[in-house]
Amino acid sequence: MVRNIMELIITSVYEQHENELDMKCTCEQCRNDVLALALNRTKPRYITNEAHGPYVRATIESDTQELIHLLATVTQAASFVSDNPQCTKRPPKR
Ligand SMILES: [Zn+2]
Repeated sequence: MVRNIMELIITSVYEQHENELDMKCTCEQCRNDVLALALNRTKPRYITNEAHGPYVRATIESDTQELIHLLATVTQAASFVSDNPQCTKRPPKR
């Protein structure tokens, strides 16, 4: 199997900073759109052995510069999705 460890890290960054992202809508569609957009702008880091995941993840998450960069990417994605929500069920709150 091949797995992109950045999926876990981007999700974690999003969840830790969700309250600061100031999303107009936080439905599952918008959340997924933010994650997808952020991941498309992030260089993937694939692992082939799930057991190595925690080690690779810890290495990336202990890199302060990397985390700042990832948070900036997530913040930009959140801002874009917030202004261009793809969900139709809930119109943006004003
Ligand atoms: Zn939404």
